[in-house]
Amino acid sequence: MPLRSQSPWPARLALAALLLGLCLISLLLWQRLLIAQQERVAERVGYQARSLARQLEASLHDQVAGLRRIALQWSHRGRIPMDEWLLDSRFALERFKGYQAIQWLDADLSMRWIEPLLGNEAARQFRLTPAHPNFNLAIRAKASGEPRFSNSFVLLQGGRGFILYTPLYIHDEHNERVFDGFLQGVFRVEGLMNELLSHADSHDFSVYLLEAGRPIYSHERPDALDALQQEVPLDLLNNQSFTLRLKPTEQLVQRLATPLPQVVLGASLTISLLLVAAIGLALGNARRASALQAGNRRLSEELEQRAKIEQVLRDSRERLQLVLDLTDSSHDGLFIIDPQNRDILHMNQATHNSLGYSAEAFRELLKQDPEQLLPGYRDWLEGVRQAQQDKLSTIFQQKMRRRDGSEQAAEISAQLVRLNDHEYLIGVSRDNSQRLQLEAQLQRLSQQDGLTGLYNRRFFDSQLNSEWRRLRRQGASLALLMLDIDYFKRYNDRLGHLAGDDALRQVSDVLRTSLQREGDSACRYGGEEFAIILADTGLEGGMHVASRVQQRLEALNLAHPASPLGHLTLSIGLAVAEPDGGESPDLLVAHCDQALYRAKHEGRNRICVWRDQA
Ligand code: GH3
Ligand code: MG
Ligand code: MG
Repeated sequence: MPLRSQSPWPARLALAALLLGLCLISLLLWQRLLIAQQERVAERVGYQARSLARQLEASLHDQVAGLRRIALQWSHRGRIPMDEWLLDSRFALERFKGYQAIQWLDADLSMRWIEPLLGNEAARQFRLTPAHPNFNLAIRAKASGEPRFSNSFVLLQGGRGFILYTPLYIHDEHNERVFDGFLQGVFRVEGLMNELLSHADSHDFSVYLLEAGRPIYSHERPDALDALQQEVPLDLLNNQSFTLRLKPTEQLVQRLATPLPQVVLGASLTISLLLVAAIGLALGNARRASALQAGNRRLSEELEQRAKIEQVLRDSRERLQLVLDLTDSSHDGLFIIDPQNRDILHMNQATHNSLGYSAEAFRELLKQDPEQLLPGYRDWLEGVRQAQQDKLSTIFQQKMRRRDGSEQAAEISAQLVRLNDHEYLIGVSRDNSQRLQLEAQLQRLSQQDGLTGLYNRRFFDSQLNSEWRRLRRQGASLALLMLDIDYFKRYNDRLGHLAGDDALRQVSDVLRTSLQREGDSACRYGGEEFAIILADTGLEGGMHVASRVQQRLEALNLAHPASPLGHLTLSIGLAVAEPDGGESPDLLVAHCDQALYRAKHEGRNRICVWRDQA
């Protein structure tokens, strides 16, 4: 499963949990190292404390060696003279400042000599009695012959102190060993301890001297730590009732401690952080790589798509070019314009060439003055819109104006289309003047009689009907002449059919030239029968035209050898009608026919007018 589809949150939570776990492990490790270090420090402190106690013991032992020496001399040489004793004592006092005094208590346990006397006067009359706290100790020393160190007690001189009882012996005359009192080393607690400590390595501790668990001396340091205090037994000479309580200074603890736990904690936290950050980065990279891959895939898909679209566009463009070329090869004008502002979106060459304009000039003119190109442009546009709405034919016969001012008949097929909310007019224009001419010609031919060039019967019928309607609206009258060549069968029979045709043409010319008014029309009604429609003409006018025809034919004097009249003549029936009078064209023809019939009947070569018999 690709990474990109996963939310980054589970991974982040897992990383946070990992970081938390690693931090906890680091803290545990740190804790263990700290405990181990504390144990090690405590051990070292204990060692140093014991070492200090041994130093103090040894130091006291050394310092009181002078007293032992005096005692030995006393035993060997007998009671030494006072002067010598004083010298030895002073020497000992000199060597060791811990002494308060050195004294000789005689065999009666009475004070004899004191050095120095100054400061110790109070002891001058002293006698050791059983009431004294040290009495038993002194007795034990005497009995054993070994020096004894007392517990602390209140000195006669004031303050607490100790006394070292060293028993003295002499030999009597029988060489018997006789007790000769005690050589006493008197120590003040303060003085002794201060002196001993000054010779020992004690500056790393607050020192307390306990006697039977009770503190009797203290030498404190400000940064001593209660937590790591040690109590070690202190054997002062042979008295074992002392304990040394030592509190190490912070400085010592710091010296003994190593920064290892902190270093390990810092290092392991850093490593944890780095590890988690590295994993996070790796995950992020993997995610990014995956996203990049997906992006690349999308990009290549888009490129492929784009290439396809470009190919389609190229094809379309080529096809469009073909279409444009095709439109340019067309003789019809093809154009697409915006009917609102008359911008041309496209036009082929025929659109402007056919009117003699360049593309630019045509474009400009349509924009500025469309009426100049297409008279009635606006009405035409409205017509297109209307026709399209009414679903009628949108092919319009218009006149366009050429550049030289002449007019060109144009058939314009137009269509309005709406694309993207915009209206376009698509048009195809065709120069149809030739076609119109052809059509007119065809029209003419279809209305003409081939032999005589007059209008034919079909034209006559429609012309009579249309004139009838027109004149009915105008309230005017209509005159109709029916003309028939007299004895024409005989003419043919005598002179031949071709001559007959020729005669027909000559009569036709007479009819044609006899009509002077626009709208009058002469038709070949059939065979050698003719009809003349005279619009807006009454009886008089009709008579006038009929007479003129007869006169002109007579003036031609066409020979008709088979006619009793000797030349070609016409019988003419005349009928006049008021189209708004309720009659019909057919009735008019019938009346006219009747008049013609009468002209024949009455001898031919004459004009008969139809009159209402009733
Ligand atoms: P009427 O005086 O009573 O009119 O005598 P008519 O001989 O003219 O009589 P009718 O109208 O019956 O004859 C018509 C003749 O006209 C028949 C035919 O020989 C002739 N005719 C009709 N059409 C043509 C044509 O196209 N060419 C020629 N040469 N003769 C035609
Ligand atoms: Mg006839
Ligand atoms: Mg005839």
